[in-house]
Amino acid sequence: MTTCADDTTTIEELRKWQRALRAQFPIVTGHPDLAYLDSAATSQKPQAVLDAVHTYLTTTNANAGRGTYPWANRTTSLVEETRDRLRRFLEDPDPQWSAVHFTSGTTEGLRTIARDWLPGLLTDGDEIVVPVADHQANIQPWLDTQRQLARQGTHIRVLPMPYQHASGDYDHNALAQLAGPRTRFVAVTHVHHVYGGNMNIHRIRQAVGPDAVICLDAAQSIGHLPVSVTRLDVDFVAFSGHKSLALPGSGAVWARHARGPEFVPGGWSGTPNTVGIVSLAAALEWLQAAGTDRIERWTVALAARLTDVLRRLDAYEVLGCQTSLAADSPVQRRQGIVTFRHREIGAGDLGFILFSHGFMVRSDHHCQGGAGEKSESVRVSLHVYNTVEEIDRLLSVLATLG
Ligand code: PLP
Repeated sequence: MTTCADDTTTIEELRKWQRALRAQFPIVTGHPDLAYLDSAATSQKPQAVLDAVHTYLTTTNANAGRGTYPWANRTTSLVEETRDRLRRFLEDPDPQWSAVHFTSGTTEGLRTIARDWLPGLLTDGDEIVVPVADHQANIQPWLDTQRQLARQGTHIRVLPMPYQHASGDYDHNALAQLAGPRTRFVAVTHVHHVYGGNMNIHRIRQAVGPDAVICLDAAQSIGHLPVSVTRLDVDFVAFSGHKSLALPGSGAVWARHARGPEFVPGGWSGTPNTVGIVSLAAALEWLQAAGTDRIERWTVALAARLTDVLRRLDAYEVLGCQTSLAADSPVQRRQGIVTFRHREIGAGDLGFILFSHGFMVRSDHHCQGGAGEKSESVRVSLHVYNTVEEIDRLLSVLATLG
């Protein structure tokens, strides 16, 4: 019997498990002729999330933290329960020493940290590391903080994160050389949204030492692989609910009160997105029941299948790591994102051709920072509902364009 490398589950069991989960996504099963391959932008939603939203809106919809009648009280409890659920989901070892703040997504989460918390950490001459070839959402807010502080007479240095361009990973050795005692804050990404690699966050901690704050952009990892703050020594985790099976415009920041001041988002934030928060709780529950370790194994296997064939087709250039490596590889590990270019057909045209065959992919610059790719590419990003058959059909269409 065939078994997966890092588990005793057989491939046959995994396929059966996946079929049962895929059947829970009405938009997916309702369009068997289409293949949704853009989950890095936003994910599809399982029936359990749709049901939770429907139940909430038809039984207890009210504002949170305001009224004292039962629907308002219930809504307030649902918001608090979602905070606790997220802490459990992240394996928070010290829930009384952490905060959960709901946002509209990763962008707002990172911006809130940059605006409301980071200035309180930094003094004149301090340094921050910014991942200049990652998503704009994880670059701009930190540069804005630098400018804001400069206007007040506090000058901080921005150190561009060093990269190993061939694999799309960070250059951990170069980072260790770069980081010094004044390096107070390091912004990193867990899974790169273009190169698809797991960015080996434990090696970032080794490189920058025990005292620097690490802020993790987990937009492409929450819901795709186990994310444990017991195992990852990071101080912030920001992510988007819509990329992890919840409703659009939902998300959260988790913050550990360990290094620097407590994270207290400033200002009056008004009515929270209660229905988004309810959907997030349902999505986290669904993901936990499905098993993020299995979801990872499934999407990594699909991405490996795609990468391994595509990189042998002369007409294509695969960005980032060229191999799909096993879990314990000391090198890079590709998650469920594969980005590529055709050497003659432009990315926009290729996206259009692929949609004419029923494939929904992303083809542009993917909001990558200025130190990233100079030309456009096509990105295939996967979730648990994608299948081997979809990948094989995609490959056969791509092969005919070679
Ligand atoms: N960070 C990464 C790595 C992303 O891939 C994205 C979106 O694609 C974002 C941040 C921004 O997420 P959102 O638009 O949901 O705020």
